[in-house]
Amino acid sequence: MARHGGRGWYGRVIAAAVGVTAVAAATSVWTAQAGPVGGQHPAARPAAPKAAPVSATIVHASDHGDHAVNITIDDGPDPNWTPQVLQVLKDNGVKATFCMVGPQAEAHPDLVRQVVAAGHRLCDHSVSHDTAMDKKSEAYQSQQILDAERQITKASGGVRPMYYRAPGGAFTPYSRHLAAGRGMRPLGWNVDSKDFERPGTAAIVATVKSELTNGPTLLFHDAGGDRSQTVAALRTLLPWLKQQGYAFGFPVR
Ligand SMILES: [Zn+2]
Repeated sequence: MARHGGRGWYGRVIAAAVGVTAVAAATSVWTAQAGPVGGQHPAARPAAPKAAPVSATIVHASDHGDHAVNITIDDGPDPNWTPQVLQVLKDNGVKATFCMVGPQAEAHPDLVRQVVAAGHRLCDHSVSHDTAMDKKSEAYQSQQILDAERQITKASGGVRPMYYRAPGGAFTPYSRHLAAGRGMRPLGWNVDSKDFERPGTAAIVATVKSELTNGPTLLFHDAGGDRSQTVAALRTLLPWLKQQGYAFGFPVR
């Protein structure tokens, strides 16, 4: 139950943030120098500082081993629902992964910083949440992923998203490799709680319980409409998962 290495995790975030600051400084110097000559070229657009590459395969496993789950919360941040989800997670001592939509992160940097400060991890969930993204051009996919990465990193104050989850799971080999090359592990899910469809709190709870054998990564949402059922379901599910002996981890990177 108390297996979370909170201190170690914070240590890594601080180290990462320091690294980001150094690279960001170097990047802005480069941009300032390159600006006059390369200003019109798309490649000259300043990108978020790059992290070490990770595997490009879609991950589902938990870094807390076989009897652990990864709580993932998609489509926010949202000023109404994200604070409520954060409160439930806090009340249960659970860390989660928040897959954020770039413009919403940009609009609510205070929420992004609260998520990070509480020890949760960030995930890039694209700019437009286009679930047909896998049918679009590479240039479009690149813009969707890199612009959101930039928006989330700026909103967080320099903490980078560690994962990339394609909207609706619309990954392509190209998008997986692009994200992985920037340190964002492609992130799948095993259990769709179906909370987005608002089937009722009991149905959300029942779906998660019955599909838990599919694997450790559970999908919920903190935006896109009334998420009171999601909040209520998490309030029931998190203590239940603990009673079943599950630990809570992050997806493997
Ligand atoms: Zn989504």
